[in-house]
Amino acid sequence: MSDDLRDFIRNRIRADVAAGRLPHGVVTRFPPEPNGYLHIGHAKSICLNFGVAEEFDGRTFLRFDDTNPLREGEEFVEAIRRDVEWLGFHWTGEPTFASDYFPQLYHFAEQLIERGKAYVCSLTAEEIRASRGTLTEPGTPSPYRDRPADESLDLFRRMKAGEFQGGAHVLRARIDPASPNVNMRDPVLYRIRHATHHRTGDDWCIYPMYDFTHCICDALEGISHSLCTLEFEDHRPLYDWVLDNIDMNYHPPQIEFSRLGLPFTVMSKRQLTTLVANGHVSGWDDPRMPTLAGLRRRGYRPEAIREFCRRIGVSKADNLVEVEFLEFCVRNDLESTAPRAMAVLNPLPVTLTNYDGEGETLTGPWHPQQAAMGQRDMTFSRDLYIEREDFSDNPPRKYRRLVPGGMVRLRYGYIIECEEVVRDSAGEVSELRCRYVPESKSGSDTSGLKPKGVIHWVDANAAIAAEVRNFDRLFRVPAPAGDNLAGDLNPNSLHTDHGFIEPAIAASPETRFQFERTGYFVKDSELHHPERPVFNRIVSLRDSWKPKAQGQD
Ligand code: ATP
Ligand code: MG
Repeated sequence: MSDDLRDFIRNRIRADVAAGRLPHGVVTRFPPEPNGYLHIGHAKSICLNFGVAEEFDGRTFLRFDDTNPLREGEEFVEAIRRDVEWLGFHWTGEPTFASDYFPQLYHFAEQLIERGKAYVCSLTAEEIRASRGTLTEPGTPSPYRDRPADESLDLFRRMKAGEFQGGAHVLRARIDPASPNVNMRDPVLYRIRHATHHRTGDDWCIYPMYDFTHCICDALEGISHSLCTLEFEDHRPLYDWVLDNIDMNYHPPQIEFSRLGLPFTVMSKRQLTTLVANGHVSGWDDPRMPTLAGLRRRGYRPEAIREFCRRIGVSKADNLVEVEFLEFCVRNDLESTAPRAMAVLNPLPVTLTNYDGEGETLTGPWHPQQAAMGQRDMTFSRDLYIEREDFSDNPPRKYRRLVPGGMVRLRYGYIIECEEVVRDSAGEVSELRCRYVPESKSGSDTSGLKPKGVIHWVDANAAIAAEVRNFDRLFRVPAPAGDNLAGDLNPNSLHTDHGFIEPAIAASPETRFQFERTGYFVKDSELHHPERPVFNRIVSLRDSWKPKAQGQD
């Protein structure tokens, strides 16, 4: 398949395949914790894990890392499955869960205790933190570090049996309290949590920590390349230590790549949860959210997100990508796939004083280059709406639209000339009275007139009122402060227009459109109704941003 992708991970896999090091082929996993919805950063990891497996005829597990019953739940499991499928990827078999392996994990924990490689520590969480040292100072040994294995085993079994309160004891690896790597300073492997788990119910009241769980699950599933983000680089020695110290005949390599970051948004699930819980957004699928559910509702197609991930590539270098680059990919994808139609978002009434007929039907293509999309009908009559900004009685230089006494062409229609500007009591322009040129009909124009501007319009007698939601960045600042999210929010991130759309749009089963000269829009999946249309702006039509400034190709 994509033989063109040549990042360091694919090169490594190619080398492993060529050297015959992968008797079971390429096996990857995507391991989300079901404590929130997936975001565009996760899409990078999904595209990488599922992508390499597809390219090398391998397999990918969707494995839920559900070791913290307090924060996890079925809503998130369902949302994650839906989003991975929506992106267009297929996992091997049924999804797996870290909790599926709780019995094996427990067994390996006992093994470590028996081997003197783990002990039950009875310090409080606070005391453990204090004795761990800092980045510059070594930690100090726990007074329980030399507890006899028998005693630790007994306590660990009683922890499992539910004899102790949360926090009374933990199981810790016996590695090196003074290690230069903080993660190796006798890390906690198990803790007591009297909480009901979304899958195992009340079967367990001790839960394994991520670092202990992840490597063992990888090994049990025969993962050939455990791909994770760079913040786990310092955890790799622990990943290896656990597998080296239990009876496990298989040891996957952990390989790290850089996280995707986007400015003007947040991507930690804790912060996204705060936005939802405090009502700063309408939910996880609010179109301003960087979640896949939000981007889907915003109208992004999965193809665009996959192309974005392909173009940003995979490396160990910092991966803060401009929002404009994502929007460029979205626009690129919609350019050839979205039908065109006309909508007036900020209407100004136009009356054609010399138009006597009942009205007539004009036609236009759904797409200027894609003839297969066919034609649409639109009615034309004496009463029209045009965009307010397409008229000016004080035009800037090079203004090619309508001015008093000037002419423009109405797309797929006629040339009109502005004869009179009507104002309301506040002095605002409230109507234009124009003359149309009967012999200037598009396609059979014999008028000989060549006005410079072409503008869009809708027939006021047929157009359907529509609510159009325009979005700006969720945050005012490139790097929102974790502790003051609310203060950094952009108060103008949602702006609603009340406009009019041509009826063919409302009647079409198609959801995404280019409203000519305005942008790309999608029928809102929750709020839209054919008789009361609600559209979201997906992306504007163009941007000053150029593709060569960013990305790999
Ligand atoms: P958070 O820290 O917000 O809870 P997380 O990274 O812990 O997020 P997980 O559900 O554990 O979320 O992530 C699943 C996988 O997605 C992990 O392998 C993680 O490395 C990867 N991932 C998460 N965020 C990004 C990102 N911004 N870019 C690339 N990969 C990411
Ligand atoms: Mg995580």
